[in-house]
Amino acid sequence: MSNDCPFCGIVAGEIPGRIVHETDDVTAFLDANPLAPGHTLVVPNDHHERLDDLPEKLAREVFAVLHQLTPAVEAAADADGSNVAFNNGPAAGQEVPHLHGHIIPRFDDDGGAPIHVVAGNRPDLTEDDLDAIAEDIRNAR
Ligand code: AMP
Ligand code: ZN
Repeated sequence: MSNDCPFCGIVAGEIPGRIVHETDDVTAFLDANPLAPGHTLVVPNDHHERLDDLPEKLAREVFAVLHQLTPAVEAAADADGSNVAFNNGPAAGQEVPHLHGHIIPRFDDDGGAPIHVVAGNRPDLTEDDLDAIAEDIRNAR
């Protein structure tokens, strides 16, 4: 547990949260400043900052809860779809340094945007560039 972390506080019951799912490993609660009705956050109970800090077993648990809760969130919000995403690190917009998956309900014509816009301008990459990047990723696993 990290003392100044709001999500550790919610998991510990020291900070109020509208909890919608709770196990020994994973907790989910409503976002306090929702982007849409039903906006839900799914967190590992242990304090891990980023996806790469998360042990594989816990990563599976977090994804299982995202998988289970997403249809429930959509049904409760009467949504037409959802964005399910992590801001992984400050460069990606992560503000709370306790890993959390967002489930953001989406509605036809809600005026929002797809996840394609989050990274800014698209890079101009050649086929060779793409081949080299794919090779780098395979080698970095
Ligand atoms: P991120 O930018 O991915 O780190 O998102 C952090 C999210 O946490 C934001 O959507 C905030 O509205 C939400 N948030 C911050 N503090 C709390 C809190 N105490 N309870 C619930 N949600 C929170
Ligand atoms: Zn924490």
